[in-house]
Amino acid sequence: MDYRKKFAVEPGTKVRLSKVDPSYTGKHGTHEKALPEIQKHVERMDKLQYLLYADGNQSLLVVLQALDAAGKDGVVRHLFSGMNPQGTSVFGFKQPSRDEADHDFLWRAHLRAPAKGQVVVFNRSHYEDVLVVRVHKLAAHSVWSKRYDLINDFETMLSLNGTAILKFFLHISPEVQLSRFKQRVDDPSRQWKISESDYSERELWPQYVDAYEDAMTLTSTKHAPWYIIPSNHKWFRNLVVSQIVADTMAAMGLKLPSTRVDIADIRHKYHAAERERKVGGQHQMKEFAKVN
Ligand code: AMP
Ligand code: MG
Repeated sequence: MDYRKKFAVEPGTKVRLSKVDPSYTGKHGTHEKALPEIQKHVERMDKLQYLLYADGNQSLLVVLQALDAAGKDGVVRHLFSGMNPQGTSVFGFKQPSRDEADHDFLWRAHLRAPAKGQVVVFNRSHYEDVLVVRVHKLAAHSVWSKRYDLINDFETMLSLNGTAILKFFLHISPEVQLSRFKQRVDDPSRQWKISESDYSERELWPQYVDAYEDAMTLTSTKHAPWYIIPSNHKWFRNLVVSQIVADTMAAMGLKLPSTRVDIADIRHKYHAAERERKVGGQHQMKEFAKVN
């Protein structure tokens, strides 16, 4: 199954989240069956990241967006932790700092956008400026409504500069969110994740759905597509995201750069150094024998 086709938001189509079943698992059925496949995709991602880094001409930006407890952190932990830290980074977008708020809304995103050869994951992103900002009326309608075009221009610019962009919306149901909130309460190792706003934000679910639908409708493009990932089942979410990331990287035409040196000449130097080492070694042995 090509999940890139199945879950992509076709540019220009109106997103209706109610049409996407967050519990969907296709014919995969079980976690156990999916695990080896997830493993395979994660290994592909890791190998391709090495190539991306070596190649040094392109980059990858992965945007993760979702309502609370949908699994943004889980995706980072399960799918991106095997990549070489030299060449990968994750940036979490929080409430803007004073410095960030004093700039245009794309400034902090641009600052963290991947350099050539890098993979960057945005855990939340510049999209918060048309999501939380819209839902909580943190900016006027006349301000946030112009941001979709600005985001499209920004992402087009990154893409023209060699950045592949993938945007994932992790889609869960309110019931699953509540059950994950319960786990957070019951499990001391998860309690740190609880925030007061979890519950107040939950009450704004329909407003967030509207904001997400508009954002995805207006900003899914060929070069920066949105994918709506059924995420009630964590393993299915991981399977789909890992396959889409690996397939996208595989389509980037990455290759090891050709060497910048004359290999024949270097071989020559190597053999000379090897001969030198042997002669030097024999000489040292003789000196050693003399002393003893
Ligand atoms: P978390 O992802 O749980 O660490 O929470 C980060 C919080 O920062 C969320 O409540 C986001 O909605 C909030 N946040 C991120 N970006 C913005 C923004 N541009 N304006 C206001 N709040 C934001
Ligand atoms: Mg949170």
